[in-house]
Amino acid sequence: MAKLRAGIVGAGISGATCAGVLAAAGWEVDIFDKARGAGGRLSTRRLDEGWATLGSPFISARRDPFRSQLREWVRQGWLEAVRGNIMKGRATVSWTQAQLQNHYRPLIEPSQLVRNLMGGARLHTLSRVTRLEPRTIILENGVVHGNFDCVICSVPTPQAIPLLAALPRLQERLQTDTRYQPVWSFIMRWEGGPSADVIQFEDELLNLAVRQFDSEGRWAVHSTTAFAETYLDASPMEASTRAASALMGLLGLPWPVEVEAAHLWKMARPTVQQGGFWLGDRENRVALIGDGIAGAGVERAWESGTRLAQALVQAETELAL
Ligand SMILES: Cc1cc2nc3c(=O)[nH]c(=O)nc-3n(C[C@H](O)[C@H](O)[C@H](O)COP(=O)(O)OP(=O)(O)OC[C@H]3O[C@@H](n4cnc5c(N)ncnc54)[C@H](O)[C@@H]3O)c2cc1C
Repeated sequence: MAKLRAGIVGAGISGATCAGVLAAAGWEVDIFDKARGAGGRLSTRRLDEGWATLGSPFISARRDPFRSQLREWVRQGWLEAVRGNIMKGRATVSWTQAQLQNHYRPLIEPSQLVRNLMGGARLHTLSRVTRLEPRTIILENGVVHGNFDCVICSVPTPQAIPLLAALPRLQERLQTDTRYQPVWSFIMRWEGGPSADVIQFEDELLNLAVRQFDSEGRWAVHSTTAFAETYLDASPMEASTRAASALMGLLGLPWPVEVEAAHLWKMARPTVQQGGFWLGDRENRVALIGDGIAGAGVERAWESGTRLAQALVQAETELAL
């Protein structure tokens, strides 16, 4: 019997997980991403020495099955529970006060972790998708990939809407007012300051700083949404200068802060969700997954991809949308 075929748009955690579950069940899976590699909002920035995360610094689980999945990734050496000292404002706080229970941080590059989830699926990088049609994915360069048993789109909602022009019923069901909050994210180094590993700022400009794995002096620093909205059109240099000066003031640092990388995530976290784990158009064999559908965060994105793949595998030739 011919293998069932899935075409997936987006190699973030939702698309990668979906791809891996389908591939493990014997489906032939092609996954297309516009970026150079896998990861999406869990992608990694390579630096002179090592790597750093500009996206989600933590992977956390509120419930099963993701909790068991994280324990398995810990066993494989991909993650470790967040440890160390946490500061909230100027006070040292406990894990519970900081709401960091069941939070893990990656020991391998998060983009590699996401890549590992794809199993035997084929990843096509630098492959921007511009249009979806029934059972079909069309790339920016005009190449058409068709005859899929299911096309799965895992990109943030505002990026999915223009891809769905040929699928008006699905487009209509998508809550087009799904907004995403932006975040400016920086990799910084500084000397002095508090001996913490995680700093939760109580500030209008900066939100969070997380010491990077295996690095004494390197931190990931995230802005607040208000900062990102103010500096939406700023250059990385301008945003970095403003964030570094805010950080020096907050931590009372005696020396200038060095900013090694800066990235604006225009769509860091959705403010609303569709409800459910996926949105499907059974007749045209297209489904939407990801945090814009299932709700903000890595756990919901993972659940979204896993649940759709499991439903497709269970339904076999019948599309379970
Ligand atoms: C700064 C920051 C901090 C965060 N902190 C946390 C946290 O502490 N805890 C938490 O749980 N979550 C956090 N999140 C959110 C979390 O990272 C996301 O919810 C999750 O990674 C979303 O995964 P996804 O697969 O739905 O989407 P994505 O990871 O966005 O994947 C979508 C993929 O689609 C690709 N794509 C888009 N358009 C196209 C196209 N036209 N053609 C081809 N490919 C395309 C993109 O390149 C991307 O790889 C944070 C996010 C950011 C940015």
